[in-house]
Amino acid sequence: MTEWFTETLHPWLAQRLRIDRVLFRDKTEHQDLIIFENERFGRVLTLDGVVQTTEGDEFVYHEMMAHVPIVAHGAARRVLIVGGGDGGMAREVLKHRAVEKVTMVEIDRGVVDMSVEHLPSLSAGAFDDPRLDLVIADGAKFVAETDERFDVIIVDSTDPIGPGEVLFTAAFYADCKRCLTAGGIVVTQNGVPSLQGSEVTNSWNRLGQSFADVWFYVAAVPTYQGGFMTLGWASDDPAKRRHDVATVEARFAPLGIATRYYTPAIHQACFALPKFVIDLLK
Ligand code: SAM
Repeated sequence: MTEWFTETLHPWLAQRLRIDRVLFRDKTEHQDLIIFENERFGRVLTLDGVVQTTEGDEFVYHEMMAHVPIVAHGAARRVLIVGGGDGGMAREVLKHRAVEKVTMVEIDRGVVDMSVEHLPSLSAGAFDDPRLDLVIADGAKFVAETDERFDVIIVDSTDPIGPGEVLFTAAFYADCKRCLTAGGIVVTQNGVPSLQGSEVTNSWNRLGQSFADVWFYVAAVPTYQGGFMTLGWASDDPAKRRHDVATVEARFAPLGIATRYYTPAIHQACFALPKFVIDLLK
């Protein structure tokens, strides 16, 4: 009997992926975690009925959330990842040899352990990198209490439901600002605007309470259903998101980082938003 994974994110729309083999299915301390194989997308990780990442398209999301802010910053040495339990984000960030320390604050140990065991291609050894400091904790509590300061903060969270809800609040964004160095950048997983428009409007207003320059950039991840997704951008330095292609090229080319989605031209273009997304900024 063919088994299907049916996503439960939207009451009026649901994507299905065929389950060819279940590798793990159980409750963790915080969430329902399933890791299964699918003929087209490879190994797939879902949490609480929602696709989080697949081997087939994770490169889009991880490259765009790592390289856009780090290349735009130009001198990032300390990076904070909030969430990102599968390890894919840490993998991309650690490709930047000038980054001296990556702190990853993930609430769910089960996601990390099962990703290392069943999805090793995502982290690709990142958890063994001496520059990585893995902290199992609530990201909101961490940014409210830490004495550390970061040049770039990447919020690689679930949707604003369950443990991820607090990562979309004005208080969390204000605490991110508190532990950011001058001219630092925060980027956030911010949903698919055609289906989750209120997430864009909420983040626009809540980030705007703490940062001088707030915007969004886009990337299309096939298993994040509904067209391209939005990634939130916040900084006090408006120039950081206005680099021309030549500047991005001059910074990125010498790094020798191989990518499958990110390019200097994509970096510059991804900040161009369609009208219906701009209309959500109210
Ligand atoms: N790319 C995915 C997406 O766009 O939906 C996110 C992937 S990543 C697996 C999301 C991670 O955020 C999960 O491992 C989850 O446990 C973690 N997370 C959720 N709420 C959190 C919190 N309050 N603090 C830290 N990590 C959290």
